[in-house]
Amino acid sequence: MKPFVSDVPASRVVFGAGTLSDLRSEVARLGINRAFFLSTAAQRETIAVARASMADLFAGEFADAAMHTPVAVTDTALAMLRAADADGLVSIGGGSAIGLGKALALRTGLPHLAVPTTYAGSEMTPILGQTEEGVKTTMRDPVVQPASVLYDVELTLTLPAQMSGVSGLNAIAHAVEALYASDADPIILLMAEEGIRALAGSLPLIAKDAQNGEARSDALYGAWLCATCLGRTTVALHHKLCHVLGGTFDLPHAETHAAVLPHAWAYNAPAVPEAAAKLRRALATDRPAQSLFDMTASFGAPTALRDLGMPKDGIDRAVELIFKNPYANPRPLEPDAIRALLEDVWAGRRPN
Ligand code: NAD
Repeated sequence: MKPFVSDVPASRVVFGAGTLSDLRSEVARLGINRAFFLSTAAQRETIAVARASMADLFAGEFADAAMHTPVAVTDTALAMLRAADADGLVSIGGGSAIGLGKALALRTGLPHLAVPTTYAGSEMTPILGQTEEGVKTTMRDPVVQPASVLYDVELTLTLPAQMSGVSGLNAIAHAVEALYASDADPIILLMAEEGIRALAGSLPLIAKDAQNGEARSDALYGAWLCATCLGRTTVALHHKLCHVLGGTFDLPHAETHAAVLPHAWAYNAPAVPEAAAKLRRALATDRPAQSLFDMTASFGAPTALRDLGMPKDGIDRAVELIFKNPYANPRPLEPDAIRALLEDVWAGRRPN
């Protein structure tokens, strides 16, 4: 066993089907008397359902959360939160709603309960990415990690099949990078492998039947494990590529992760044999890069960045940005190889 440091911040997790019925007691448990609810416009209805059980604990809502946490949106929500005299936050949705909850917690210090409805995993991390004037900056601060997380499998049943697939691959990407993270401890490695296994087994079943409750439960369980890995390890090439691509070309988050992951893994695989053995086991395949690529394609999701809206001349800009802020990666970053990687993922070529 290699030496390690395990430093585990506490956050409460309630997991199951129908757990939304526990929302009032979980909110009260955090000492919140006036809860302010957050969602994207598409999930306003879910707030209405949650509100029914909240009665006097409901202080107000803001249902215009947006991807990449634009600061202007946060400012508007902050003004409404203050006007409502709220003393706590409840975010319901994917990473966009939860990101807004984190941004507001950062500015107010209020307790935050997250109710995730995708597999993106922001709820389990102390990471916040915010966008201002087209530039996305990411910070890590324990103050933004939600105090409690309520996973309700039933809320994920409405996530469309294709979005479920790419969101699940976004979660798998967190665990893949944890498998070779320099700061991964033995528990994280177990969680990473189990998280990938749970998602790889359940996502194809969800693609066939989005209402498959057992597969939905396995996928959300896997997403929790993978999110925990993201929160406790340092990411490398894959997440940095997605950060640059998403922030610079305004590409959709989960879809970008799904398209990039097979290529980022193929780049690093030769440098991380132990991680490769774990990934082969978790995915039950000898060829993880090809298997991840085929999963994305089988969900009907784009495998090419050009189909997500990235211009071809953006490859030069992306290479420039990737080398502007160097970071640790198991295989050294070589400009020609990174350019070739980006050309492959832009065109949607299957890794060899
Ligand atoms: P999202 O939150 O933008 O959700 C995508 C769309 O799906 C939205 O319209 C949403 O309303 C809808 N939706 C969500 N759940 C649904 C459900 N169950 N049924 C029907 N519709 C549903 O997308 P996302 O991929 O979850 O999150 C992306 C954002 O999260 C990005 O801004 C990304 O940077 C951030 N993120 C942050 C972290 C972190 O640790 N800080 C981790 C992962 C993602």
